[in-house]
Amino acid sequence: HEDAKYLIKKKIMEGDKRLFLVSDVSSLWQYEKLKRDLVENVAHELKTPLSAVTLLLERAAKECPSSFAIHRALHRLQQMEKLIDDMLILARLESGVERLHLTEIHLREFLQDVYYQLREEFEKAKVNFENLVDESFVLVADENKLYLILRNLLENAVRYNREGGSVRVRGWKEGQMAVVEVSDTGIGIPKEHIPFIFDRFYRVDKGRSRDRGGTGLGLSIVRNAVRLHGGSIELQSEVGKGSTFRIYIPQSI
Ligand code: ADP
Repeated sequence: HEDAKYLIKKKIMEGDKRLFLVSDVSSLWQYEKLKRDLVENVAHELKTPLSAVTLLLERAAKECPSSFAIHRALHRLQQMEKLIDDMLILARLESGVERLHLTEIHLREFLQDVYYQLREEFEKAKVNFENLVDESFVLVADENKLYLILRNLLENAVRYNREGGSVRVRGWKEGQMAVVEVSDTGIGIPKEHIPFIFDRFYRVDKGRSRDRGGTGLGLSIVRNAVRLHGGSIELQSEVGKGSTFRIYIPQSI
């Protein structure tokens, strides 16, 4: 039928004959759509009262600027809003509805914009940002998705860093791949956690992540956005020394 979705599972070539194994994935597609619609509806329903309560608390904060409880409550609401936004982003990336809009991106400049959005976090944590990307380095990627990738990687690189530490970004080409590397001088990730680190809501230290404003969805968003480009991600880490995330994005899609 019209809405049916098919996936070519196998292509066998024998001389001048070709055999295709095609499977009907309509029900899977419908299930993904249902999941996405549900997340979107729930997110919307949660955001309306959340904005109303935020507004009321902001008014209360003006009347009682020294109330610790009100400021804590506002902070918690901000975290909730971030969680809802991240859930929405992830649901869209996972559902297969997202299309790639590829453009040429000047990475050095682009990174400066991402850094600018996070400058307060860098300053608060006393972490230095080193943009080592060559002025002339250009890569082909989807701008919005590259933003999600870099924002989440940089946020983590600050969040799990140490005072006086640094975050370094490099970019280069390897054959048909553009490589972007984000490395930090932070706490590192114990080996046994590395295989799970990209799973949603997986955290090495739940308390620490939440205290530092994490939702537990950042790296899942990164992995999905990289995969949408047909790329891959690598991680090297040493406890107490730091972590290096490397993303590979094919340049001939
Ligand atoms: P969160 O919102 O908790 O940061 P993420 O999905 O972004 O969620 O990351 C998952 C977990 O991986 C984090 O809770 C943290 O334990 C670990 N992690 C991610 N990035 C780093 C990093 N640069 N250095 C150390 N640990 C990290």
